[in-house]
Amino acid sequence: MCGIIGYIGNRQASPILLDGLRRLEYRGYDSAGMALQNGKDLQVLRRAGRIDNLALLVAEKKPQSHAGISHTRWATHGAPTDENAHPHRDQSGKLALVHNGVIENYQTLRDALKLDGHLFTSETDTEVLAHLVGKYYDESSDADPVQRLISAVQSALVRVKGTYGIAVIHTEAPEVMVGARLGSPLVVGLGEGEHFLASDVSAIVAHTKDVIYLNDYDVVTITKSGFDVKHLEGGIAKVLVSRVDFTEEDAEMGDFPHFMLKEIYEQPQSIQNALRGRLSRDEATAVLGGLQMSPQELRGIDRIILAGCGTAYHAAMVGEYLIETLARVPTEVEIASEFRYRNVPTDKNTLQFVVSQSGETIDTLAALREAKRKGIKVLGIVNNVASTIARETDGGIYIHAGPEIGVAATKSFTSQVAVMTLLSLLLGRIRNMSSTDGLELIEEMEAIPDKITAILKQADHIKEIANKYAHVEGMLFMGRQMNYPVAMEGALKMKEISYIYASGHPSAELKHGVIALVKPELPSVFIAPHDAVFEKNISNIEEVKARKGPVIAVATEGHPGIEKVADDVIYIPRCPSVLSPLLTVIPLQLLSYYVAVARGCDVDKPRNLAKSVTVE
Ligand code: GLU
Repeated sequence: MCGIIGYIGNRQASPILLDGLRRLEYRGYDSAGMALQNGKDLQVLRRAGRIDNLALLVAEKKPQSHAGISHTRWATHGAPTDENAHPHRDQSGKLALVHNGVIENYQTLRDALKLDGHLFTSETDTEVLAHLVGKYYDESSDADPVQRLISAVQSALVRVKGTYGIAVIHTEAPEVMVGARLGSPLVVGLGEGEHFLASDVSAIVAHTKDVIYLNDYDVVTITKSGFDVKHLEGGIAKVLVSRVDFTEEDAEMGDFPHFMLKEIYEQPQSIQNALRGRLSRDEATAVLGGLQMSPQELRGIDRIILAGCGTAYHAAMVGEYLIETLARVPTEVEIASEFRYRNVPTDKNTLQFVVSQSGETIDTLAALREAKRKGIKVLGIVNNVASTIARETDGGIYIHAGPEIGVAATKSFTSQVAVMTLLSLLLGRIRNMSSTDGLELIEEMEAIPDKITAILKQADHIKEIANKYAHVEGMLFMGRQMNYPVAMEGALKMKEISYIYASGHPSAELKHGVIALVKPELPSVFIAPHDAVFEKNISNIEEVKARKGPVIAVATEGHPGIEKVADDVIYIPRCPSVLSPLLTVIPLQLLSYYVAVARGCDVDKPRNLAKSVTVE
């Protein structure tokens, strides 16, 4: 959450900062601001609301500067107002700081600083950090302002509890910008005669593809012409320059009206990318070198734990069905934020996967660290290469979905499910799955992208259904087996972007309580593909219809019967039931999208949400 971009070089800073902020806006849109310096003064421009508001202020003030820091906020402490917008200044007004994360002991620090005479103008935890760095700077006797600033940042950060990615500037050290991270991502962009700091490479990929992903406890100093990374408590830090593997255009909307729609339509391609080079017809299995585990080691695993949050948690639930069905390995799914505080019994033959699109989800990262503390081997299922989770796991599977900007996750869900299918195939083949079954699954997986394309062609039909139900009070989503998590995912999409209350349930749970909600104003979406529980789903649909509840069904084409009981039907192509979540989720993504559009909602920037959840 929150976006940071800082620039130091020969070009005008404000257009670069504004462009970077726009590319990061999906990470928070409560307020935006920038601080620019010209060697003498600090100009701080801040506005509550969207980046467009800040852009108007920038256009009016026309700041002239070649160095500055900027921020788009997802508020944790204090309302989304101008005063609470970053950057924050210290007591002297000469230092400005932007921050991503939460300072947990800010109240204690603030009280102590107040006793020292510090005056605060915002309710944020961040302002305390700005004052603390400023205090150490002012108290230092070092004659070199650059050294003073670096030491002040280090002294302040060792007193802080919580998480941070920060960028700091000071008028007395105009040739540098200092950054640091703990728990929140920060990258350094290396250019010709210019350098960048950013919370996410998408903010700077238009300017450079050479980046350093900082590690926790790194403190970096950048100038026009160079950089230097130190450990928070002194000493040299390890530095690795990486090359970004996507382009500026990959992170742009193109001709689509929203990132979410673009990403829904990218799924035939993103699934192909997840499968590419990972299917071996010769051996009728999957090839997942990133796991860095031999067949013997994999065979020795007798229990798997999958942990994730939100959509990744739903993908993990599908993963549980897949692994248990295809590989017969007992599997449990954990909500990452719960796992970290539970004391889940494990043994040396337990293997854990943490699932996160961004690779920065703080709760999932904490679950990973807790599992490692207990001696469990932990692997990642991650999209962002070189993200914190990718670096801290013992190996894993990249989903290769490309940048996902829409706050509501879509293509990352199907890619996560696709790689968990590969994992199940691999685990199955070294246990009890025959080569003919393996080969059949491979062929069916390879056919999935075209089948998704066929579903996408029904977008107009799905839009009509969405318009018909756009103003309902709520929606229920029902599915069985592998499609129960899809029902939960469908409900989550509906809530996130259309603000219609929705919940997902196993179809048979209806009669244990949820059916009390059924009425003409509350439609139910049934995911009822042609599988072993189809007839059971039909009975559940009848129960809803008997109580005058409208029913939208997702069903398999060429399998008649459902249109007689459901009010509206969206058909998906035939596929084996283990692969059906890859298809059934597509109509639900489109349904929520078109409902949100019909209700006039801001699809890519839903209320109160932001992507890449880096706060607990
Ligand atoms: N905790 C800080 C605030 O509420 C930073 C939030 C963020 O990461 O955007 O301002």
